[in-house]
Amino acid sequence: MAFITSGAAAVSGASLTARRAFTGAAVCPVPSGRTSPAAATWSMSAGGLRTFLVGGNWKCNLSKDAITSLCKELAAAPDLETDKVEVVLAPPTPYLDHTRSVLRQDFEVAAQNIWVGGPGAYTGETAAEMIKDVGCTWVILGHSERRNLPQIRESDDFIAQKTKTALSHGLKVMFCIGETLEEREEGRTLDVCVRQLHALAETIGADDWKDVVIAYEPVWAIGTGKIATPDQVEEVHEKIRHYLAGDVNDKVAQETRILYGGSVSPGNCNELAQLPDVDGFLVGGASLKASFLEVIESFKSDLAATV
Ligand code: PEP
Repeated sequence: MAFITSGAAAVSGASLTARRAFTGAAVCPVPSGRTSPAAATWSMSAGGLRTFLVGGNWKCNLSKDAITSLCKELAAAPDLETDKVEVVLAPPTPYLDHTRSVLRQDFEVAAQNIWVGGPGAYTGETAAEMIKDVGCTWVILGHSERRNLPQIRESDDFIAQKTKTALSHGLKVMFCIGETLEEREEGRTLDVCVRQLHALAETIGADDWKDVVIAYEPVWAIGTGKIATPDQVEEVHEKIRHYLAGDVNDKVAQETRILYGGSVSPGNCNELAQLPDVDGFLVGGASLKASFLEVIESFKSDLAATV
């Protein structure tokens, strides 16, 4: 399925200071039978439309005591203005319940994975019902470590099915996509992102997208300290929105939040937050410290850039 053939499309040269109204020519071919995004017209004024979201993915890190300490430090910051920013932390599965009990109430809790089906004879798995039972409202699915680690290798279809399961149980989903370094160097960045998203678009209904947040995470930028440039980030985010307009619809293109992930830190978050199509971050390493609060504060840079 090669929906996009040119990975070498011109970089958008996005303004860092202004959201734009977009009336677009097609930059992102869509599967046959779907509407061309050439007709798409939507406002990019994200400030009021798409609430900034910062997710923290603790991966397979921390202990019960370390979580208690970190949550105490995170509690020191003032109450969130939840109409302006949402925060979601994803601890390892054994600590979901504990994290929910010690974490400030205005931060939400996500699981890092769920089982595709319901409870039953599935040794080692965790059902969506169980995640909800301990107070989780979100789940991260399709993270590149689960897509690409040779011991795991989750397929596009399996991730899409798990997303459907999560949504059907009222969980919201951070749906991760992104290309490897090899795929970027071969000019296949958009092919890969569209392939991963199309598997989901085929599996869930247009109304389900309201509970999906896309996290664009170039694999080569995760945990490496190599940050994608603002132009690289905006180019992909903008094209994801075009893709959504064509393969799903304009409303979903306009309303779906697209997070960036990959070595986001207090040092680089403010510049990235100003990008027109960046609606927040999914943060790994930098979410393990109290300075994560500075990344959360970058919602102010997003608002300031909104006209
Ligand atoms: C991640 O794992 O989703 C991630 C973005 O990690 P890091 O911020 O450490 O690159």
